Parts: sequence; structure tokens; C-alpha cells
Amino acid sequence: MCIFCKIANHEIPSYTLYEDDDVLAFLDISQVTKGHTLVVPKTHYANLLECDPKDLAKVMDVVQKVGNNLMAHSGCSGLNVLSNVNELAGQSVFHFHVHLIPRYDQNDALQLAFQPSEPQDLAALAAQFALK
Ligand code: AMP
Ligand code: ZN
Repeated sequence: MCIFCKIANHEIPSYTLYEDDDVLAFLDISQVTKGHTLVVPKTHYANLLECDPKDLAKVMDVVQKVGNNLMAHSGCSGLNVLSNVNELAGQSVFHFHVHLIPRYDQNDALQLAFQPSEPQDLAALAAQFALK
């Protein structure tokens, strides 16, 4: 059984922020920023792309609840919501989870760089990746 299944089954302790029959939210053991939280379905799926859509909807409902609570009570000014899919993207626990990372300071440990692209490149990419 994977480590997040064990946490969901209460075989391993966690600092729980929210729990219902299907979803658990608990503090990440490595706090990127204060309040860094993980939201997981209790059913095991390797990643977001493999998650049953009904469970995905339940997870996102809890992401919204926990996110609003962090925004109201942590003193953060923003929040990043992300889920890593596969090792190359930084996934280290292969049980679907969503990270909620409160942001207090633009120069903290989480740095994402988005650069604008050329319109002709975007047109080619849209042609390549549009769902058929
Ligand atoms: P990822 O790299 O996206 O797979 O994220 C996995 C996260 O799980 C990391 O941020 C770890 O710090 C966190 N983590 C691993 N083990 C535990 C644990 N026992 N309790 C809480 N968080 C954990
Ligand atoms: Zn699992």
C-alpha cells in the first residue's frame, strides 16, 4: 500500500485539516511555505490524469474549501494550486494529490517562469494539440 493510502487509512499519522468519506487534506511534511497542504482522494490513483472524474470533482471541491480557508486565515496574499504528473514533472508520491501553496512573498522558494510566446508558434501548437 502506498504512503498516502496509509495516511488515508490512518495507518500513518498526518496533520489533518479536513476529512470526509472520500477526501483528505493534510499538511505537507516539507512546508514550501507556511500552510502548504496536500489534498488526496482516499481511493488510490497514480496521478490526476488517471483519477476517476467523480473523485476528481470531490478533490477539487475540497481544494476550493481548504484554499478559501487558507486565504482567510493564513495571511497569504495568493495561492498556487498544482499537481505534478510523473517523475519528470516532480512527482515523488504516485498517489494523486493536489498541492495548495500559500504565497506570502514573490521571492520565496516556489518560482514559476512563464514567458510570452509568438502568435505563429501558438497557432502551430494549437493545430498540433487540439483535441480531435
Ligand atoms: P510530489 O513531489 O508532487 O509527488 O509531492 C509529494 C509531497 O508529499 C512532497 O511535497 C512531500 O513533502 C510530501 N510528503 C511525503 N510524505 C509525506 C508524509 N508522510 N506526510 C505529509 N507529506 C508527505
Ligand atoms: Zn495510494
